[in-house]
Amino acid sequence: MSQSSPLDFVIAGGGSAGWIAAATLARFLGNRGSITLVESEEIGTVGVGEATIPQIHNLIIGLGLDQADFVRQTNATFKLGIEFVDWTGEGQSYTHSFGQTGRGVGLIPFRQLWLRGRALGVARDFGDYAFNVVAAHLGRMSNSAPTNTIPELAYAYHFDASLFARMLRDYSENLGVRRVEGMILDVERDGESGDLISLALNGERRVPGTFFIDCTGFRSLLLGDTLGVPYIDWSQWLPCNRALAVPCESSDAFRPYTQALARKAGWQWRIPLQHRTGNGHVYCSDFLSDDEAASILLANLDGAPLAEPRPIRFVSGRRERFWAHNCLSLGLSAGFMEPLESTSLHLVQSALGRFLNLLPGDLDEASSARDYFNRLSAIEWARVRDFITLHYYANMREGEFWELCRNMNLPETLLEKITLFREAGLVIREEEELFLDDSWGQVMIGQGIMPKSWSPLADNVPGEDIAPFLDSLARSYRVKAETLPTHRQFVEAMVAKDAQVA
Ligand SMILES: Cc1cc2nc3c(=O)[nH]c(=O)nc-3n(C[C@H](O)[C@H](O)[C@H](O)COP(=O)(O)OP(=O)(O)OC[C@H]3O[C@@H](n4cnc5c(N)ncnc54)[C@H](O)[C@@H]3O)c2cc1C
Repeated sequence: MSQSSPLDFVIAGGGSAGWIAAATLARFLGNRGSITLVESEEIGTVGVGEATIPQIHNLIIGLGLDQADFVRQTNATFKLGIEFVDWTGEGQSYTHSFGQTGRGVGLIPFRQLWLRGRALGVARDFGDYAFNVVAAHLGRMSNSAPTNTIPELAYAYHFDASLFARMLRDYSENLGVRRVEGMILDVERDGESGDLISLALNGERRVPGTFFIDCTGFRSLLLGDTLGVPYIDWSQWLPCNRALAVPCESSDAFRPYTQALARKAGWQWRIPLQHRTGNGHVYCSDFLSDDEAASILLANLDGAPLAEPRPIRFVSGRRERFWAHNCLSLGLSAGFMEPLESTSLHLVQSALGRFLNLLPGDLDEASSARDYFNRLSAIEWARVRDFITLHYYANMREGEFWELCRNMNLPETLLEKITLFREAGLVIREEEELFLDDSWGQVMIGQGIMPKSWSPLADNVPGEDIAPFLDSLARSYRVKAETLPTHRQFVEAMVAKDAQVA
């Protein structure tokens, strides 16, 4: 038995990924060595990343942060899901919400009962049976359990990413993380093992360590540049490669959800924060010029712009490995899948969780853990890629870009999912898969992939009982949602005091 290797972590980069890593390592491994974070204000951060998914609670709770304090400090609002507007044709929309849709009866899943109800002509929109969707469209929010037959709202946050990083920086420094301001000029390696041994900074400074976390953003200075781990390009499935981001004044809408509005060759996000709305246009440069993309964005803001649109270039994909030698890559340096389903910050969090679970006491004995980590991460990334790709593939829009998406050759894993769903309304969900059955179901149906039949289990319910069952479910959700505070009331109460708001 040995527990010998010192864990002197060096985190390169202080964007959201760097500070999430610093806070998490300080919280869970702070007593095993030192943690140093190097960042350069001159380079700055990518400055976007404002929408999250409910797994963010694991981070907030894991770090022991107070929810009200977090909402206050980051100008956060609440997110019940994403409304996809015009993806299946102009004027059409559906919402991919968090939480479950409907309620099954015994062994019969709700979706199968809905499919049967649809065939009988008595089912409403699938979203009318999701409490999250009903509350979202009424602009309501609550974080307490309404009744024992109605589920709690499942929620995430919209927040100001730079304020969040600032909050985590204070948290980390209070736990002893050392922050070094400086430009990384070189990364030094051990001549024999090839492991990283130190970062060389401007001013002839060196920051040595035993384990390195690459959080240098798209530059990927450690894993990509120094260790030469290649990038796997996923543009054939996720063709958008540019974004323009611009904040604007808040609108009266103050929606408790993100909007993803399909555009000529991509889509636009609207993310309401307490003090402003975040907007961005994600597009494919083969089909749209930067000027046209900027005009489309500026013509579709809810309020007056507060800055010039900021351009960002990217290629969706990932590094072939995420952990190589004694270097783990997190955030944009590990890869990037465009932000349609707000998954990037979650992938940082889940990679850190996996890393902490697999890290052996002796770093010299980490090779199996490293391989396993890379294998699990690759599966996780591929499933997220498939989920985002589904939105593009199953579009019903006109135009060259959208036609190209409809005709893409799908990854086999996604093709299998779509085929099974079309045949029988079923979802295969495998290990390490982030999105649950309900998410796949909502997006498949929302994007117009309708199953040809339903499970014979649903035939167990007498036909005449289906309509009253569906009606009472939709009605109870609506009646309950109408009693909840508005999103604005809820946020204001949360900011004013730290108590739970009914
Ligand atoms: C258009 C777009 C929209 C997005 N929307 C979302 C979203 O809604 N939800 C979500 O979860 N994620 C989103 N993301 C992803 C999210 O922004 C990132 O995952 C997150 O911000 C983490 O970025 P990062 O810390 O890896 O990189 P960065 O923010 O780029 O940070 C890199 C850090 O490395 C430092 N650095 C780099 N080179 C050097 C050097 N030579 N010397 C010293 N320091 C250096 C920089 O100073 C900086 O501190 C979006 C991304 C894009 C591009």
